[in-house]
Amino acid sequence: MKITFIGTSHGVPTGERFCTCMMLESNGALYFIDAGAPVIDFLLRKNKSVNDLRAVFTTHVHSDHTVGIVHLADLMNWYYKKSSTEFFVTEQEHIDATKQWIYTSGDGHVDESRLKFKVPTAGVVYRDENITVEYIPTAHMKNSYAILVTEGQKRVLFAGDLSHGLKKRDIPSVINEPIDGFVCELAHFTMDELSPYLDECRAKKIFFIHAKPARYEDIRAMEGRYPFEVIAPDDMAEFEL
Ligand SMILES: [Zn+2]
Ligand SMILES: [Zn+2]
Repeated sequence: MKITFIGTSHGVPTGERFCTCMMLESNGALYFIDAGAPVIDFLLRKNKSVNDLRAVFTTHVHSDHTVGIVHLADLMNWYYKKSSTEFFVTEQEHIDATKQWIYTSGDGHVDESRLKFKVPTAGVVYRDENITVEYIPTAHMKNSYAILVTEGQKRVLFAGDLSHGLKKRDIPSVINEPIDGFVCELAHFTMDELSPYLDECRAKKIFFIHAKPARYEDIRAMEGRYPFEVIAPDDMAEFEL
């Protein structure tokens, strides 16, 4: 699968980084993990068809992970009428608010046969001929999750946001298995607080996103210290896994 890091900033965008958003491509189908960036603008700039978008999976409802859904869903509703997507949003209130936004700004109709909003719970929430997606609870907020994506033998974990100081020990234990990628935030805890978990980590590559600016120095200092590859992707960086 191909991963494009569209937004890599911590909770606040910067001059160079949008907030959290990644696109996955598998056999021509498109999926998003979090939508804290202008998703629809990105698709158009990359010459991708909205009709190829199958699903948007969000880890939790903080706006730096979800705000791109409103514009995307609104345009799908009234303009891109051949598109159809499942939106996984972890709070029903946010789904209701998104629908309300579309109702009141349009002709009072949300085409729910194409815009399929769902509240995910722990476990496998999505499966098609390309990928399987599992939600794993975390302790960042009331309903927050890490997302494990499987494509054939390949597995990538997107940690979402985690607990402050990792005090709730909510890094999913799947990182102790030889997964292909681990996308980890670095805003709510320090590298020292993370390092006991890294000692046990068997992922082949770690991608650090959502990092406080000062932590990029810590990431660079990790060079050669671990058996896995450490990557701090910029916005628009692409990786084939
Ligand atoms: Zn965040
Ligand atoms: Zn958050």
